[in-house]
Amino acid sequence: MDAPQAPITQDVMTIKRVLPEGGPVNIVGLTRDQLRAALIGVGAKEKQAKMRVNQIWQWLYHWGVRDFDAMTNLSKDFRATLAEHFKIELPEVVTKEVSTDGTRKYLVRIAGGHEVEVVYIPETDRGTLCVSSQVGCTLTCSFCHTGTQKLVRNLTAGEIIGQVMLARDDLNEWPEPGQGTGANGPRLVSNIVLMGMGEPLYNFENVRDAMKIAMDPEGIQLSRRRITLSTSGVVPEIARTAEEIGCQLAISFHATTDEVRDKLVPINKKWNIEELVAALAAYPKVSNSERITFEYVMLKDVNDSDEDARRLIKLIEGIPAKINLIPFNEWPGAPYQRSDADRIKSFAHIIYKAGYASPIRKPRGEDIMAACGQLKSATERARKSRKQIDADAGL
Ligand code: SAH
Ligand code: SF4
Repeated sequence: MDAPQAPITQDVMTIKRVLPEGGPVNIVGLTRDQLRAALIGVGAKEKQAKMRVNQIWQWLYHWGVRDFDAMTNLSKDFRATLAEHFKIELPEVVTKEVSTDGTRKYLVRIAGGHEVEVVYIPETDRGTLCVSSQVGCTLTCSFCHTGTQKLVRNLTAGEIIGQVMLARDDLNEWPEPGQGTGANGPRLVSNIVLMGMGEPLYNFENVRDAMKIAMDPEGIQLSRRRITLSTSGVVPEIARTAEEIGCQLAISFHATTDEVRDKLVPINKKWNIEELVAALAAYPKVSNSERITFEYVMLKDVNDSDEDARRLIKLIEGIPAKINLIPFNEWPGAPYQRSDADRIKSFAHIIYKAGYASPIRKPRGEDIMAACGQLKSATERARKSRKQIDADAGL
């Protein structure tokens, strides 16, 4: 009779996931647990694995080191083992454009030759990095340039956190030996917004793992209050965002009736305004976040009437909120126009009088097409189905 098989432990399964056969594995983007399992998989002693994770983690995410040989508190042999099985790889910057207002747009290439965009927006009191989560987007919001691009694939956690790392490279933000993170005053990348290309909640696990790395106190150390995830309204994943990431939430609301929202944000046909609002009402309690940001793109004669403003206030009653009005950013062939400045002001005033902050977002980097919703890479491939995307991501 065959001997009973030992149960497959979580660790062994994790090792299999993170150490697929063939070629070194990118160490950037592994969670602490995955890294631990991977180190054991290449011979690290179980008892020491946690310490090794800490050491490597600090080299990667605190000091920004890109060479195993520079990890001088690890033995030479262990460094050689690491170099044999792992690589430290970031997306490659193909082009960098700098706007007259200081905004930087990076076009970066990821495995498979695909390209995504990353935008850095400096302000007086902060520096915000707008990060992409997918190549293109499966959704087809009618006012969004990215929505006209066919989705190619989800980014890996390494490709998402890699965008933060390459921006820090470009801004020369890694600390010098002897300094703590941010020791030189205000941080350059002080905030992350998941508002680049793609719908982050359709790539949940990778976005979560990357943001956990960004928040880790021994690395990049960004507070969860400085990370904002923007979603078009993937209702079933909203509670999970609160529980598993705990970052701030922004919601692409954009309309006050289902009829209009169906056209602007077609995911509304799946989860309508009522279902969305119910999910949002629970969010701040679970995540302990401050307020939800309601993003509202101002489209001339489509969603910008005083009546819309009043309806919006009614719909979100009771939800701690701020409403971010985004003047529509035009792109070649766009089917909409930006609302007039006076119209936007009148809309903002109604919201303000109802007790909500209603900032009008200043378009940044317009001269380099870096503003919200203008991102679109040149690489376009055949559209994949959700099933295929999930299969590719191993879900
Ligand atoms: N997919 C996510 C995040 C990326 S888009 C989402 O939809 O929320 C980031 C924000 O820019 C969203 O609120 C989106 O609706 C908005 N946006 C898209 N295209 C725009 C455009 N052309 N002008 C102004 N805002 C736009
Ligand atoms: Fe995708 Fe967001 Fe653009 Fe809609 S607005 S198409 S969800 S990136």
